[in-house]
Amino acid sequence: MKEDDFYKPLEQFADIRILRYRVEGFEELPLPTKKLIYYLSRAALSGRDIIYDQNGKFNLLIRRTLETIYTTFRGKRDSDDFREFKTYLKRIWFANGVYHHYSNDKFLPGFSEQYFRKLMAESSPSALPEQPQKLLEIILPVLFNPEVFPKKVDFTPDRDKLLHSAVNFYEKVTETEALEYYRTLLEHAGERPASVGLNSKLVKEDGQLKEYVWKAGGMYDKAIVEVMYWLKKAMEEAPPEQKEIIGTLISFYSSGDLALFDHYNILWVKETSQPVDFINGFIETYNDPLGFKGTWESVVHILDAEATERTRILAAHAQWFEDHSPVDERFKKETVTGISARTVNVCMLGGDCHPATPIGINLPNSDWIRKEHGSKSVTLKNITEAYHYASLQDGFLEEFAASEEEVDLIKKYGLLADNLHTDMHECLGHGSGQLLPGVRPDALMQYHSVIEEARADLYALYFMYHPKIFNLGLLPHPDAARAEYMAYIRAGLFTQLVRVEYGKPIEEAHMRNRALIARWCFEQGKKKGIIRRYSKGGKTYFAVQNFDGLHELFGILLAEIQRIKSEGDFRAAQNLVETYGVHVERSLHAEVLERYKKLNLAPYSGFVNPTYVPVLDEDGRIKDVRILYKESFAEQMMGYSQQLSFL
Ligand code: ZN
Repeated sequence: MKEDDFYKPLEQFADIRILRYRVEGFEELPLPTKKLIYYLSRAALSGRDIIYDQNGKFNLLIRRTLETIYTTFRGKRDSDDFREFKTYLKRIWFANGVYHHYSNDKFLPGFSEQYFRKLMAESSPSALPEQPQKLLEIILPVLFNPEVFPKKVDFTPDRDKLLHSAVNFYEKVTETEALEYYRTLLEHAGERPASVGLNSKLVKEDGQLKEYVWKAGGMYDKAIVEVMYWLKKAMEEAPPEQKEIIGTLISFYSSGDLALFDHYNILWVKETSQPVDFINGFIETYNDPLGFKGTWESVVHILDAEATERTRILAAHAQWFEDHSPVDERFKKETVTGISARTVNVCMLGGDCHPATPIGINLPNSDWIRKEHGSKSVTLKNITEAYHYASLQDGFLEEFAASEEEVDLIKKYGLLADNLHTDMHECLGHGSGQLLPGVRPDALMQYHSVIEEARADLYALYFMYHPKIFNLGLLPHPDAARAEYMAYIRAGLFTQLVRVEYGKPIEEAHMRNRALIARWCFEQGKKKGIIRRYSKGGKTYFAVQNFDGLHELFGILLAEIQRIKSEGDFRAAQNLVETYGVHVERSLHAEVLERYKKLNLAPYSGFVNPTYVPVLDEDGRIKDVRILYKESFAEQMMGYSQQLSFL
């Protein structure tokens, strides 16, 4: 299959498009590694029902009802109403419930309540999860009444966040009661507190608070037992370095004891020698308005040796970069150490990480474990890659790039150059430079993060076009750096405005930083014609005309930004950010939004997982694991619902 076809979105509905990711080199892995990935993947999928239930008490009931209709409805399937019904079901699959995965707002069906009753009446009642009349009573208000639990998580001030959030972490418990309850538990917890409340639902019954713990024999028993079953298989297959880690996680699931979870995290964070690694558990707490409860998720991944080697090279030469950076000697660090990051490829996504997924993960979350034992940070390369290849086919680049040559260079080098930019930003940029004695780290106040991001970006941009990069073998050709220059300038000058509402200024720190750099270079380079602005057929374009000149400007601005940070020059920071990073040229903004709208793109993406199929020998033992990329989104979701309905 051609690369282009593999990464073409499988489908688009509502504000979502569905992509695939590829597990490069899986076929060539040794059998034990394949089996380990297979078992960890089964564990990653087995907790799927937990996330539906956590996201809202009625989600599982709703999903099953809709899936029954989807498979047994006898009426007309080729109608606008039924298409709306399918879209609604797909949105539920995508969000693991009836709340938008990003905004947290409840989304409503694009068909009427009356039509839903018809769907129910003409579907097979024996397959429904409840008696139809009772079912309608429970789910109709949730589906159709916008007033009934409108938000998964409600952060509105001055009202009880627990009573108003649909998330299924608390029941009949007020915010004050829950805070009081956990404060008491934490009072005598000492220096190394367990993550209290992380793995339980807090309920008030007969005036008493009670925790239902998510563990084997507790709440979510059947799903957790299934996760444990596959973890045990994985433990048997795992290399010696990882057996105890997996074993400790199994003990945690079996007992619910949070001290074991801490112990597991400490073992997990220290183990960095093995290629296959995983996240599996109640992890992120941002779905709990109070920040105690962990949402269930899993990611299985394998090290990308080549990309990890790139960050190792950067880190090993960190001192060279510092010594040769264009900033004043007083602002340089005498000894600087780069950070070597692990770049991985995802093998399986589960729970809250699927179908929508992060592109980087930094864990564990416990503060004292991070302080005493460190944290593990990974970037998910094949996910970024899938986004990149999909974006090359959606018309965005052709619409906004200044020339065909620019399109070609970005198609050829864009991904490599962008990855290198990110690596240099993270591994070198943030760690470079020093404050002058007596300067407070918070001197730049509200401008701190924009200046800091600009500093790291400029460090990457400046050195990207430096001969050293080619000497180290990090880029094959200066054209790769040129591709990054063009893409960066284009985004900063105008295309990133597609994410800003018309009439609003730029708010987000990374966007402000890009606008600041691109516009400053545009203005400063005007006399030399470094970036040209022109209009063709009523459309605005920006073309980089002089790459050496732009490289030089990046160096000058880096020196100034470093000075601002090192001296804590608040006024200069304010002046730069307010002049170049905030305001939007109204007519250009309107034009960009108009051109973007015509492309008809979905702002959110998610993934179908690959399928792993064990091949058995005559004695029923696994002799190989095959990887397949054949399922459509609906096939995968229905397949999971049939195989993994444990709750
Ligand atoms: Zn940064």
